[in-house]
Order: sequence, then structure tokens, then C-alpha cells
Amino acid sequence: MLFNRRDINTLPFTGGEEWQFGNERKVLEEQSRNQNPKSMRSGFFLNWIHFRLKLTLIKVLIREYKNPIDWFLGLQYLIKLRRRFLGNQRLKKMAYVDGKYYMGLYTPGWRSTVYEQFIASELNEFKKTNSPAYRFNHVFLAITKKCALQCEHCYEWDNLNKKDVLSEDTLHGIVHRIQQLGTAQIHFTGGEPMLKVDILLSLMKRSASGTNFWMNTSGLKLTAINARRLKQAGLTGVFISLDHFSAEEHNKFRNFKDAFYWAQEGARNALNSGLVVAYSICMRKEFVSEENIQRYMDLAKETGVHFVQFLEPKAVGHYKSTDVTLGTEQIRLLESVFLKMNFSDNFSSYPIITYHGYYQRRQGCFSAGKKGLYVDTDGDINPCTFCHKKSGNILDPKIDNLLATMTAAGCPTYTA
Ligand code: SF4
Repeated sequence: MLFNRRDINTLPFTGGEEWQFGNERKVLEEQSRNQNPKSMRSGFFLNWIHFRLKLTLIKVLIREYKNPIDWFLGLQYLIKLRRRFLGNQRLKKMAYVDGKYYMGLYTPGWRSTVYEQFIASELNEFKKTNSPAYRFNHVFLAITKKCALQCEHCYEWDNLNKKDVLSEDTLHGIVHRIQQLGTAQIHFTGGEPMLKVDILLSLMKRSASGTNFWMNTSGLKLTAINARRLKQAGLTGVFISLDHFSAEEHNKFRNFKDAFYWAQEGARNALNSGLVVAYSICMRKEFVSEENIQRYMDLAKETGVHFVQFLEPKAVGHYKSTDVTLGTEQIRLLESVFLKMNFSDNFSSYPIITYHGYYQRRQGCFSAGKKGLYVDTDGDINPCTFCHKKSGNILDPKIDNLLATMTAAGCPTYTA
């Protein structure tokens, strides 16, 4: 049975009333329709941005090291680091959002202190820096087990809609702990984090500075008003799950009658509020074809989102014991689309694609306590959102030992 948006009102979830269908929403929706973000930067303008970005790198090097030889070697290190991930591909586009320039979803926007600290943290692996380094690039924090959807691939399936055990105070403690450990980004996830929108707002408002906040959502309840409140509370961007260009197919996959409506509505509202917006797609075997991906990317471009994240299905949660792993040809196609759309001039107005599988197959896993971490709805640490192996609680005083054990065990899927 598919739920519809009226049914959501009857579900026992918390949050403000503003997400429902009031007049203000209609006005903001109208404003949203009238704005075209046109936020991709390419060509000459991009070269100019890139030149200034390099000046920022030099500024960070001078600030972190006294010896000019380290400035030179540090710059070489950063260039090599980039090549390790992308080879010799030249940057062809960046997304401009609310005064900052974004080249990827997991790199903080340039023209921010978080970006500079992120670069300093990368340099710390070349040679110890003056500033304290981020321990992680990103940490996923699941704030609720509740969700109105019932997706085919849900990795939280075994916990879905069970009783939440983390109180608001405990969640504050967890955010505090993660920030103490040091991270450039915290990604709120669930369940559906928008069902706890008031807690989300409170977590961001009471957090320390120096971390960008993101949210992974189906788009549910991401009304114009909620998007604006989240932006004002400090949210940087949203990942909105959209798994098909066809409303019918997406709704069927998500087992929710208005999933497509909310994915699009949420994206428009987030764009209009100055948030970075990414569509995130689970690239199922039956979907992966050149024509389907092109139609999907056309829709993403038309909507105006800045990024599209390709995720490969994993046999966890609802997909446990299911043969969902992509074949060699499908992976080859995804990689070729990723390279073509990101690094050829013909697609400069399309959203930037983030494809973890591409990097992970070349560089191994960055998560599992190395550069990333997943804190689940019990406050337990896991290697990543798709790799559920509880390794102790984030609030444990011996967290450093727990992280060291997890990192030593590594990722079972991707080894460099
Ligand atoms: S995948 Fe996300 S949106 Fe879908 S049921 Fe699971 S928690 Fe909800």
C-alpha cells in the first residue's frame, strides 16, 4: 500500500505544523518557481576562481609552515592528492551557492574558514600543521529511527520505526563529542531527519562553529518555511533522494505515493533558501542505461540542483541477501558518464556528479574511522552507513581506542 501526503498527518511523528499546506507556502513556492539558480561556474570565470583558490592554498601553507620549502612541498602534496583521486582531469565546473564555491559534496565550500581548516587538515598528513586538524572529513549522524517511507533499498530497515532511544540532550552530547573529535561536516540522517525538524534546528543552533551541517532526506516536510528555518539555523546543504526521473517509478521504489512530489518540492524550496542541493540516486541494475541516466541528469539540471550523487546498491538492510551488486558493464557505464559529464565542456551547465564507487575503487575506503564515520540511532559507531558493524558508543570515554580498533579492521568492501 502506498501512503499519500494526507496520510502523513495521521502518523505519530513530531515537528512543527508549518510544513502543511498554508498560504505562506504558496507564496514562497511561487517565488521559488520564478527563480532560476543558474549557479554553475565554468569557462573563463572558473579559471579565475581556480586561480584565486590556489592563492588560498598558498595562504594556508604560509600560515601552517614557517619553512618556504614546506610551502613548495606542501603544494606538491596537495596537487598529487588531487591527482590520486581524479587523475589528470581538469576541473570544468563549480557550483556557486550563497557566496561560496563548491567543487564536490564532501569538500567544504571555498571562501570559508571550514575550507581553509579542511586544507590544513589534509596538509597535516604531509607534515604536522600549526592549526589543529579535523580528524574526519564527514560524520553521518542518524537522529531518528522514524520514517514515513518504506524504500526498497533502505539500509535502516531492521530499525525502522522502532522506538527512538537518543534523547535531544544525548544528541546534543553526541554533536559536541563529534565536534571535539573534529570534523568538517556532520550529515544528519535517519530514518527521516525532517520528522524531527525541531531537534535538527536545536542541534545546529547550539553547536560550536567550524563544522558544516548537511541533511540526507527524502524531501518530506522540506517546505519553503522549513527550508528557510534550516538555512537560518546553519544548514549548508541537503541530499535529497530521487531514484528515477519518472514519478511513478520513484514512488513505487520508495513505497510512498508522494515521494516524487516531496523530492522535487523539497529541492525547489532548498534551492530558494540558499542551500546547496544534491539529488542522490541509488543506481539499480534495472535503471542503469545511458538513456535513463541522461534523462535523470536532464531532470536534475532542469530542477537546478547543484550536484547528483551516484550510489551503488549494497546488500544491506532491506536489500540484505539480495543480489543487487552492479556488474562490470554497468560500473563501466557509470564511470564513463561520471567522467564525461564532469570533465567535458559539453556538460558544463549540468550538475556535478559525485560517485563514491569511482574514487573508492581507486583509493580504497575513506570511511571506517579514517576520514568518515557513521553514528547510528543508538549512538553506536559503524564504519559507514552501508557497513553496519557496531564498534562501541560515540560517548564512551575510550572513544579513541574504539576508533583505532575500527580503523584497524578497515572496510570489508573497498581496499586500496
Ligand atoms: S531509505 Fe531513508 S527514506 Fe527510505 S525508508 Fe529508509 S530511512 Fe526512510
